[in-house]
Amino acid sequence: MHSRKPYQLVSREWKSTDTTFTVNGVEIGKELMLIAGPCAVENEEQIFTISEFLAKQNIKFMRGGAYKPRTSPYSFQGLKTEGLVMMRKAADAHGLAVVSEIMSIDRVSEFNEYVDIFQVGTRNMQNYALLRALSKTNKPVLLKRGMSSTIEEWLLAAEYIVSGGNEKVILCERGIRTFETATRNTLDLSAIPLVKQWSHLPIIVDPSQGTGVRELVAPMSAAAIAAGADGLIIEVHNQPNEALSDGDQSLYLDQLEQLIQRLTKIAAINEKSFDFQSPKINIPT
Ligand code: PEP
Ligand code: MN
Repeated sequence: MHSRKPYQLVSREWKSTDTTFTVNGVEIGKELMLIAGPCAVENEEQIFTISEFLAKQNIKFMRGGAYKPRTSPYSFQGLKTEGLVMMRKAADAHGLAVVSEIMSIDRVSEFNEYVDIFQVGTRNMQNYALLRALSKTNKPVLLKRGMSSTIEEWLLAAEYIVSGGNEKVILCERGIRTFETATRNTLDLSAIPLVKQWSHLPIIVDPSQGTGVRELVAPMSAAAIAAGADGLIIEVHNQPNEALSDGDQSLYLDQLEQLIQRLTKIAAINEKSFDFQSPKINIPT
């Protein structure tokens, strides 16, 4: 036991330097990463329109749920395998990496075929069988904070993945349950500098699930970057009013474009920056 904390391998005491690894040309943990895309993959037109837009913005990571953990069993549950196939196709056509949520251990080999980063959602942060299974893969895991979990429990969940052999963990603060009902969750931005003290792992923020309110996404994104986050995961939709899930918190495409300009300015005063200056990808028409 090297650390006084219950977690070991993910602790700063174990490893003082920041963990970094490269996905789709972005050195995560060193450069800022921006993941954007719809809450759920809905159809070809939607995912191709969004992926084309993301590539034009020089964004390198696309999110999109194919298996959706919905509070109600009557809500849209996702396109499942068909959604993963569609997203891979759209991502490949535009040079994007795919981030999608996996909910159960029996889908690991399917996801391994289609995604570049496994997303573990808030409801599965303590699905230890899933964490152990993902520890045996060689792709990064985006580990959301459980909505009722302490930072220590979250780091122990990360410890499951790292101790099983996969060091490529990205923590993601997505808001916690409090008495407040005006926002969907309470986005705990103090977790960013605290995690930076306690762990060497990269940490990003999800202001979409974190607030549930479209108008709050841009200010909380700015605050997250200012507080030292290593990136953001943001929901965006070509027609938010028609979205099959989380439309109220999804940005319009032009809002994301404006947000990138704002974030580029804020990031410039931090050590880390977004690489949105490189030439835009040429999309064949
Ligand atoms: C999502 O990203 O759409 C999602 C369901 O996230 P969370 O697990 O944070 O609720
Ligand atoms: Mn969502």
